[in-house]
Amino acid sequence: MKLVILDRDGVINEDSDDYIKSPEEWIPIDGSINAICELGRHDFIVVVATNQSGIGRGLFDEYDLARIHQKMCSAIEDAGGFIHGIFFCPHAPHENCNCRKPKTGLLSAIASEFNLSLEGIPFIGDSLKDIEAARSSHCDPILVKTGNGEKTLAAISGKDLKGITIATDLRHAVPNIIDRYS
Ligand SMILES: [Zn+2]
Repeated sequence: MKLVILDRDGVINEDSDDYIKSPEEWIPIDGSINAICELGRHDFIVVVATNQSGIGRGLFDEYDLARIHQKMCSAIEDAGGFIHGIFFCPHAPHENCNCRKPKTGLLSAIASEFNLSLEGIPFIGDSLKDIEAARSSHCDPILVKTGNGEKTLAAISGKDLKGITIATDLRHAVPNIIDRYS
């Protein structure tokens, strides 16, 4: 089984400092939907792992999140693709849960759900939290420059970039993933 893990905000859709609180605020990044479809055409299982602390902060609730994900999944399915699972952390940072990235709870949940090891699985994110969660779970971190990506890249010094693949955006990351992991 070939699995790919994607962060959501800043990777699939435009991020916002004000949080994505409603379907109206969920805007796909150019090319991301087709990139997900392309992964499906090459038999990859596509799973999303996303921190949604806006729930813990009381900015929106799980029903709003379900509506946002319905919009995202419909857009992808209309284009011929599929998201096989969405794993989210609803907690605020002060709750000290085990699922908020950079912790690895979401990734362990994915490993159990799909009954596989995450070693060498590509994990695409735009933030340091994604890179750290990927490394702790022995995934291969891929950093996109969309969302917080440019900021993250600037924050990581030369040696810390070891083992991280850098891509302009999801659209540009996908052909490389297909080559490397098929
Ligand atoms: Zn959590």
